This record gives sequence, C-alpha cells and structure tokens, in this order.
Amino acid sequence: MNDLSTTPGPSIELGCGDAPVLRERGQREVFCGLTGIIWLHRKIQDAFFLVVGSRTCAHLIQSAAGVMIFAEPRFATAIIGERDLAGLADANDELDKVVNKLLARRPDIKLLFLVGSCPSEVIKLDLSRAAQRLSKDHSPDVRVLSYSGSGIETTFTQGEDACLASLVPELPALPDGERSLMVVGALADVVEDQFRRMFSELGIDSVHFLPPQSADTMPPVGPGTSYLLAQPFLADTARALEGRGATRLPAPFPLGVEGTTAWLKAAADAWGVSETKFEDVTSRPRARAAAALDRYRETLAERRVFFFPDSQLEVPIARFLNRELGMELVEVGTPYLHKQHMADELALLPADTMLSEGQHVENQLDRCREASPDLVVCGLGLANPLESEGMTTKWAIELVFSPIHGYEQAADLAELFARPMVRRTRLAV
Ligand code: SF4
Repeated sequence: MNDLSTTPGPSIELGCGDAPVLRERGQREVFCGLTGIIWLHRKIQDAFFLVVGSRTCAHLIQSAAGVMIFAEPRFATAIIGERDLAGLADANDELDKVVNKLLARRPDIKLLFLVGSCPSEVIKLDLSRAAQRLSKDHSPDVRVLSYSGSGIETTFTQGEDACLASLVPELPALPDGERSLMVVGALADVVEDQFRRMFSELGIDSVHFLPPQSADTMPPVGPGTSYLLAQPFLADTARALEGRGATRLPAPFPLGVEGTTAWLKAAADAWGVSETKFEDVTSRPRARAAAALDRYRETLAERRVFFFPDSQLEVPIARFLNRELGMELVEVGTPYLHKQHMADELALLPADTMLSEGQHVENQLDRCREASPDLVVCGLGLANPLESEGMTTKWAIELVFSPIHGYEQAADLAELFARPMVRRTRLAV
C-alpha cells in the first residue's frame, strides 16, 4: 500500500556488532499501521477503534479481520466522503455526530481511539484536538485518544507503537518509593499468563502489562518503573515511558529459548534474584522448550533464509533461526533498525550477517533471486509472485497474529518456518 517517492542510491555503513547495514530507500511493499487494530482490539477489551479514513481503509481492516464475525465489533471506519474532501462539510462536526451516535449505542466502550489514516492526514483533520474535545464531552465514562495508522512512511507494526504511545500520558503515576516491572507490547493472553506466573515464581510481584486488558487496569508508571520490551517495534512508546521516568531493561526479545531466558534474566538481575532461584524457576521449561525444538532442526538446519523488511521482528527471529535451529542468514531486511533496542540481538548474530534497513523492493528482489534462498520471509504482496517463481515463502504478518513469545511457544515459532519447507517438499514429490 505504501509507495514512497524514490530516493535511489543505497549506502553502506558499519552497524552494531560490526555487521554491515545496507540502507535503502525506494518503493516498499508493506501494510499500513491500521493493521495493528486487528490484534489490539482483542487485548483491550473495552476499547473501540474508530478509523477516520476512506473506503480503502475500511476494506483493508475488513479483509484483514475477514474471518472474524462479531455480534458487537470493536472497530469501524468513519468514511471521509467527497463532501468532506471538498471542504463542503465540516469534518469535525461529522466526526462528533458519528462518535456521539456510537457511544450512545455502545455503553460498554470505555476507551475510544480515533485512528488517523492517509486521507485524514491529507485533509489535515486534527484528530488529537478532536479527541480532546470529545473526551471532555464524554468524560468520565469514556476516554477518547487518537493516534495515526496512516501508511505514509510507516509500516504495519508501527500502528501498535503509535497506539501504546498515545496511552502513556493516560497512565496513573506509580507512587514514590514503589517499584514495579512493566512488560511493554501486545502479547497473546496465554503468553501473558505464562510470564506473569514466571515473574511471580521469581519473586517479582508487581508486574504490569501494556496494553492493559481494560481501560480501568492501566499500569502505573514513574521513576520506580523498569520496563521490558516484549516487541521490537515500540520506539515511540519507549520514549514516552522514559519521559515519565521509566527505565528500560536492555535484553534480547523473548523469542526462542535463548531470547526468553536472557529476557527473564534481565528482570531477575534488576530485582536481585539469585542464580539458584533463577535456575530453579527456568531450568525445566527451558529444557522442555529446547527438546521441543529438536524435531524442527532436521528440516531447518543449514537451510538459507532471506528476510524482506516487514514486521520489524526480523532481527530477533533471524537470531532464533540461526542460533537455535542452525539456519543460514542470507539477508536480514528490516524496515527500521533501532540500534539501542536491537543491540543485544545484533551482538548474537554472526559477524558477517547481511543486514538491510528500509527497502528498495526491486533491488532487493534482484538480490533474493540471485541468492536463491531455501526460504523467504516476506509480506503478503510479495509471497505469491515469489512462490510462482518456485521460492518457498513465509508470510511475516503471521508472526504478529500467532502466540510466539516465551518457552512454551518456541516450538510453535519454529513450526511456522518448518511448515512451508515441508509443504514444498511434499509438492515436489
Ligand atoms: S491508511 Fe493509507 S495505506 Fe492504510 S488503508 Fe488507508 S489509504 Fe491505504
């Protein structure tokens, strides 16, 4: 959906861990930030996402959520019509009418997100002012916030970042002298429960998750907050949390056995948990997860994988596939490389890993064809053409729809990559 104006001419710089980073600008093949609504609306159960956009935006959301049927959906699109675009109608008045009608009909909504889109940005509709105005009108029953899911210069996981960043000013203050751990990034409920249990076994009791499950369980934040990023695409949220005094615990991401162990250890060390206690709590699930990975190694070891930039999960996933399953990394493309948040991940990649940031899709397709990898991880738009050329592909978007974090999910994560390889073998018989 995004087509950036081309500024050709890649540049090469030395990146973290001395791995070279190829920086490219050009046409990109990624979904926009509206896509995040599909997993976010399931997390915050009394929230509603109102996209202020065009019919195209409505179609995107509807087709991404197409398999789900709801009695009372928790997202919708307020269509910007031709009269709004031509300036014949006051878009703010129209928006107020839509919101008032929605909230009158749905008293279960406690948190309303106005989600900006390319069209709302083009007509310069100021949704943050609209949110302030509507919040005042509907306070204290409903809080109205806004963020942009526009596809102009963004990729699809940035929708979650923008949404969570918009929540940060709303979080209650953590009382002075108190300490708490915040896990930041939407996780499947089953994963959240597992992590909560493990933190409790480690003796870390004051643990909160962002996003919360409801508008009235917002996690507190303050100088006593240490936070762990569960997702690697939350740069704005991290900045906003630090603005409120929170401190990031540097760690790799909790993907695979190694990543999960190092992530939990970062919290354990910050809370002064002893080595013995850490071993007691983690050794069994760690061994179970490592054993569950064994059966995927035969399919994946020594196979060559190529990542197109899409979900921003590419670097931690590449680390997992390389170190725990023995895959060779041909190219690891990512839309943005946040060097600080990625430092612990980059340190674990082989020194000669080819990293690329941004995209010039034609150039990257040329490199991919030339390398002829065994598996290509890419967006939906590229997968079918590449399959028709005989390549085996994995849709990157599945990584955000599936529970993949933590020990119990490590084998499921490996399975996501093994499945297309096995399917290709079967087709070839
Ligand atoms: S926000 Fe922009 S990129 Fe996304 S669906 Fe709407 S028009 Fe397309």
